[in-house]
Amino acid sequence: DLVGIIKEVSEILEIQFKEKNQNLNFEIPEELIIDGDGQRLRQLILNLVDNAHKYTDENTTITIQLKKLRSTARIKIIDNGEGISAEDKKHLFDRFYRVDKSRSRASGGHGLGLSIVQWIVEGHGGKINVEDTIPHGTTFDIALPLRHKKQPDK
Ligand code: ATP
Ligand code: MG
Repeated sequence: DLVGIIKEVSEILEIQFKEKNQNLNFEIPEELIIDGDGQRLRQLILNLVDNAHKYTDENTTITIQLKKLRSTARIKIIDNGEGISAEDKKHLFDRFYRVDKSRSRASGGHGLGLSIVQWIVEGHGGKINVEDTIPHGTTFDIALPLRHKKQPDK
């Protein structure tokens, strides 16, 4: 249940959000069940929401949208943070890639989060896109098939 996963992750990050006086806004259904690996899907949401939190100023709102669209679950993580340049978008999912500014930042990471995210999305037969939020910020848009394709019998 992606709704349960989103709520769990939000609880894990609640203290961090409070520290920056950030708000989490949910646009989610009652439940949305997909066929997948719960542990990895939790990691996927955690990495994206953690980024939205880290790369966004204090006193802002981060929105998590979830809906069923045809045979996919669509997840959007929307922030009004610093945004990502077109050049950086090309390398965003590479391992150890961090946008220059953030390399010197105290709240440093390893640049692995998004490569793991992409690996999980692809492992579930899904797609991920990164877009600009209007007027500024970043939106990650993920489509995951509701049902995993069955492997042919060997
Ligand atoms: P890690 O996730 O391994 O702790 P990280 O956050 O630096 O480290 P990624 O999650 O892979 O690594 O993100 C790569 C880079 O993309 C980040 O360093 C940051 O510069 C940029 N980035 C990621 N998400 C956002 C976002 N929502 N807004 C602005 N920049 C972002
Ligand atoms: Mg990260």
